[in-house]
Amino acid sequence: MKTDTSATKLDTERNAGHDEMRLPPRYEQSTLEASWQKNWEQTGIYNYDASDRSRPTYSIDTPPPYPSGEFHMGNALNWCYFDFVARYKRMRGYNVHFPQGWDCHGLPTEVRAERTFNIKKRDISVDRFREICVKLTTEYIEKMKTAMQSMGYSIDWNLEYRTMDPDYYKLTQLSFLQLLKRGLLYRGEHPVNWCPRCETAIAEAEVEYAESKGTLLDIRFSTQKGDLVVATSRPEFIPACVALAVNPTDTRYAGYVGEEALVPLVDRRIPILKDELVDASFGSGVVMICTFGDKTDVRWQHKYVLPVVKLLDAQGRLTQEAGKYAGLTIQEARKVIVEDLKNASKISGSKPIEREIGTCWRCHTPVEILSTPQWFMKTKDMTNEIVEWTNKVTWVPDFSKNRMVDWAKSLDWDWVISRQRLFGTPIPVWYCRKCAQIFAGKEEWLPVDPRAQKPPAGSCQHCGSTEFVGDQDVMDTWMDSSITCAVHAGWPEKVDEFQRLFPADLQPNGLDIIRTWDYYLMARHLALFGKAPYKTVLVNGMVRGADGRMMHKSYGNYVEVTEAIMKYGADSVRQWAAAGGSTGYDIPYRWEDVEYGRKFLTKLWNAARLILSSIRDYDSTLPAPKLDLLDRWLLSKLNNLIKTTTAAFENFQFSVATESTRNFIWHDLCDQYLEAVKYRLYAEHSQEGENRRAAQYTLFQTFEVVLRLLAPICPHVTDALYHELCHDRPNVRSIHSDAWPLPNDGLIDAESERNGSIIVRILSDVRRLKSEKRLSMKAPIKRLTVESTEEVMCVLREHVNAICQIAVVEQVEIVPIKRPMDGLPPQKDNDIRLSAQF
Ligand SMILES: [Zn+2]
Ligand SMILES: [Zn+2]
Repeated sequence: MKTDTSATKLDTERNAGHDEMRLPPRYEQSTLEASWQKNWEQTGIYNYDASDRSRPTYSIDTPPPYPSGEFHMGNALNWCYFDFVARYKRMRGYNVHFPQGWDCHGLPTEVRAERTFNIKKRDISVDRFREICVKLTTEYIEKMKTAMQSMGYSIDWNLEYRTMDPDYYKLTQLSFLQLLKRGLLYRGEHPVNWCPRCETAIAEAEVEYAESKGTLLDIRFSTQKGDLVVATSRPEFIPACVALAVNPTDTRYAGYVGEEALVPLVDRRIPILKDELVDASFGSGVVMICTFGDKTDVRWQHKYVLPVVKLLDAQGRLTQEAGKYAGLTIQEARKVIVEDLKNASKISGSKPIEREIGTCWRCHTPVEILSTPQWFMKTKDMTNEIVEWTNKVTWVPDFSKNRMVDWAKSLDWDWVISRQRLFGTPIPVWYCRKCAQIFAGKEEWLPVDPRAQKPPAGSCQHCGSTEFVGDQDVMDTWMDSSITCAVHAGWPEKVDEFQRLFPADLQPNGLDIIRTWDYYLMARHLALFGKAPYKTVLVNGMVRGADGRMMHKSYGNYVEVTEAIMKYGADSVRQWAAAGGSTGYDIPYRWEDVEYGRKFLTKLWNAARLILSSIRDYDSTLPAPKLDLLDRWLLSKLNNLIKTTTAAFENFQFSVATESTRNFIWHDLCDQYLEAVKYRLYAEHSQEGENRRAAQYTLFQTFEVVLRLLAPICPHVTDALYHELCHDRPNVRSIHSDAWPLPNDGLIDAESERNGSIIVRILSDVRRLKSEKRLSMKAPIKRLTVESTEEVMCVLREHVNAICQIAVVEQVEIVPIKRPMDGLPPQKDNDIRLSAQF
């Protein structure tokens, strides 16, 4: 695209009467955007109207973000996508439901509360600690909300909610009790992923895998048939070693199977087993089974009913079961045990290896496997159902569906839903003090906190005791946020609304949270309501820095959203979000893209001032005037643009919608049409009246349509210009509550487009000739010679007058083009050749 300023020049040439216009002469985004945001808030134009039964609803299941206090560029991109859709659908006549919530119960808030106030959570009361967390969270929400508002998102803030509020977590608890009643939850002691730093169980979705350097040691175990060498990278698990295993086909060890081995250092006698899962080519081909070194150990423990040695405690220290190693951290234990093995001459070799380790997604500490009593949801049994419903949903882009299916199928364990933390939704359950039987709360008691409250009534069904101990754990935050589709729809009270708003029409989220967000939403809603909670999933990619790496503060490629808005305005940042990349793929943040957006808006603004001043006396109530070739050319292109842009929005192709509209405005409307009709707009002779009105008509139609097409992407500037355009119409509220333009097929005219483009081509060639000679555009040409094909010559002859007026030419000579070689048709690029005599 070119960045010339022809409209600016035109504008300054002809700004007669501009004092009547309310548009400031320059496009100043900051005051303009702030005033429109205020206007929208006051007029409530984005509010969902539950009483309106005439319009169909369109519901967006906005993922409530975690209130970190920071609304980063990735968030800005996500919300732009939601907002593009919301605005488009509103203009298509939908009653759009665009709520905003906050997923408050996060571990980072607990950590920050402890640091900020220099407290230890276990030293103060649960209530006091919760109060502090609520206060911090509230501050963070306010910061993020301000950033969202300054991006111009059309959220209905009347629908705002916070998962930490009793009226919300009451629903989380209600869903817990309902699932418990249906037998979909259970409490049990099973191995779970555990973060020793966060001191809590975590779900498989919260474990990240990465390669890490380690050492593979060959350790000698003695047996009656001689020593067996076992290769391991985790010698600290030796105190928890409960068996050795070899592959049944491995002839080297056939004689050992069924014998016993002696674990070095702890002198425990353990069986030697055979199992197909043992990789005979790894190390010596003999593996130790420890409870629990990894997930395979868990499987073997279960399969062979091996004893469980609880080696680690909640902080990742070795327990009394480790004997003399008790109290050491994992790292300390590794060192001491290796030293002891050396002293006992039990190490026969060592070599460096790369191995995959799981880390906590919050703090990146290596994850261990611990067996502790936890609550689980039976998600493993739901895999087929989840896959089946996933296939019924529309995924944009299509490949994102596979991520969900692959994830669902890859899960080994049920979802562990209890967390050993404080700031979370309490589990609405007590235990009988006498017989430990579970005593579930009643729905009418909710919200309830069994950590601080006794059950209001009831006795143990098993032994009749009335003494209870409350569950001390809280729920995984995904338990709060994976019922949003139902909560947004008014569950459980608004039965009628639920019919209208559930399932959500759109589930928009980042590529990185398919395995959590989309998966948990699907599992919870299927379990509670028997159907998928969303119809379409719209996935956005991640934002990368200008250097191509993920945007991250430590990489030095981080850009604050507020900085970008301050420099170029939200409407320019939004253009980057729309046009910076394809939907569903990672997009780089480039300042040039945002700057280009700002340049485009300046171009649009200047063109708008010119258009508005030249159509001031246009009377739209008179019958449509007779149109000129270039009018038909522009209107035909405009109606094709409506089709392209509409299809792009329907398919969530925001870059196509933005690029095609921007190109049309910049090139077809500003560079070509406006330049070409200038002489008609300012014609002073009365006989030019019809011709002038045709140009006004074309400009009026075109300008109104392009503003509407651009409205979802650039909501501020389009509403400002739209109000100026319609200032004499009664009851104009906002472009955003007006209708999306529909194409007029009667105006689509291939012949006018083809012939019009010939004229446009000649005019821009003349401009190029003049600028090459450094002449003003008004410099007259004595004689213009156009060589062309027969077909082009016909078109030119009809429009010689217009060419002469627009290009300031005294005489035009039209001659057949000289063929480059006899008998060959001219090359397409060479079908018009121009020369001028000044
Ligand atoms: Zn952690
Ligand atoms: Zn009991």
